[in-house]
Amino acid sequence: MKNKLLNLSLKSKWMLAVGVTIFVSYALISVVLYIALQTWLIHNEEKNALRTVDDMTTYFESQGNTVTVQALQNNTALMKAILNQEQTVRVFNLDGIEVMRINDAAPAAQLPQNQNYFSTMIEKQTIAGSESYVIHRVVQIGQFQGIMQLIHPLAAFQSMMNYILTTIFIIGFGAILFSVMISYYLANMLMKPLVQLRDAMSFVRKNGFTAQPKFDYAAKDEIGDLLHMYRTLMNELEISFTKQQQFVADASHELRTPIQVIEGHLSLIKRWGKDEPEVMEESLNTSITEIARMRKMIEELLQLARREQADEHAYADIEQVYEQVKEELLQLYPAAEFHLTVTGEKSAASITEHALAQIFRNILSNSIRYNSNVPNLNVNINYNDSQSSILVTLEDNGIGISEQHLPHIFDRFYRVDASRTNKVAGTGLGLSITKMLADKYEVEIDVESKLQKGTFFYLKLLKK
Ligand code: ADP
Repeated sequence: MKNKLLNLSLKSKWMLAVGVTIFVSYALISVVLYIALQTWLIHNEEKNALRTVDDMTTYFESQGNTVTVQALQNNTALMKAILNQEQTVRVFNLDGIEVMRINDAAPAAQLPQNQNYFSTMIEKQTIAGSESYVIHRVVQIGQFQGIMQLIHPLAAFQSMMNYILTTIFIIGFGAILFSVMISYYLANMLMKPLVQLRDAMSFVRKNGFTAQPKFDYAAKDEIGDLLHMYRTLMNELEISFTKQQQFVADASHELRTPIQVIEGHLSLIKRWGKDEPEVMEESLNTSITEIARMRKMIEELLQLARREQADEHAYADIEQVYEQVKEELLQLYPAAEFHLTVTGEKSAASITEHALAQIFRNILSNSIRYNSNVPNLNVNINYNDSQSSILVTLEDNGIGISEQHLPHIFDRFYRVDASRTNKVAGTGLGLSITKMLADKYEVEIDVESKLQKGTFFYLKLLKK
């Protein structure tokens, strides 16, 4: 049973809960109200009946000692006014013989057995199929002593109670129907996006990120937030999934060439190497170069794949890092020249020295490598410490990058045209690593370039 309930759909659970809650509360309130009303009404009926008996007694007493039953029986108009139409009063003598009757709405009831000892006796009896109050009281009419019997039928009270009960049932049934309908509508409205979300998830699971489903739920409530989050999450996942696929495809493609080259050269060595030392020498050299290229590429790929969290406490002295990178590059390219201009105060930037060095190294080494044929090559570094951030520009007056290639230079494996890339060894990963590090440390990075004029990188670093 418990399991069955648990396994119901959310919509059914909701409707069941609303239905049961409203039913139980309504039933409780109705029972309490019904009992209270019944008690109050029956008490009123009893009071009315007793009042009539009192009024009759007072009337009999007010007639004085000389009055006879006969005289009263002849003039019942006043007494009829005391009773209401449903009530019947009979007076019996002590032998139980009826001597007077006012109204005749109900037949006489049995007189009580111990009539000598009572003064007023009230009980409920069924007279002619209808429940009634029957009151007996000993009365004195002039010299006559007898027993007055009042029959007060409860038919009006019963029909009143029946009417109330029917109303309670009708209203209750209507209320439950109405609330179940409202909760059905509401549950439907709230469940619909969840059902859509579930379908969307299973769709993505089966078909991948081919087509993202749309949700027609515009409200900005918790469900709206959930759908929004799902959409954002899916978009991010889709982007990183596509990137990953691209990455794997690119990597395997890029590694295939050097592996094929090495394989070819190794076969060459195997076949001719023993006899021809020049072939061996050349093939070994090419293989070593290709292996070095592969190693570099794998290192860079790993660096890109490793998405570590940014170090929040990191700080770097820009000038110091620049000097260190410059020294390194001068060892590799002794002819290179760098000019640094510093304006403003010097403050630390919010980035690790390692990341900043890598950014500088990638940009500056490109400036030298791609422009080795440019006469009077100038590489200028500008460092401007403004109030809110630190601006660093790195520019060269080299061959530049055409408009068509410029938007892609931060893409993985993107290398400009074949003629220059053939001459300069590279993997096409340097600037994508630069961009990844810049994003990680919230460094704004931008590039401008003109063919044959030069390239201009712009970095905006956060201050520590
Ligand atoms: P790579 O490993 O091939 O150097 P990068 O991502 O560092 O890859 O650079 C991408 C492409 O951008 C290079 O192939 C190169 O053609 C071009 N490039 C980058 N910097 C410069 C520059 N300063 N001058 C001219 N071309 C550049």
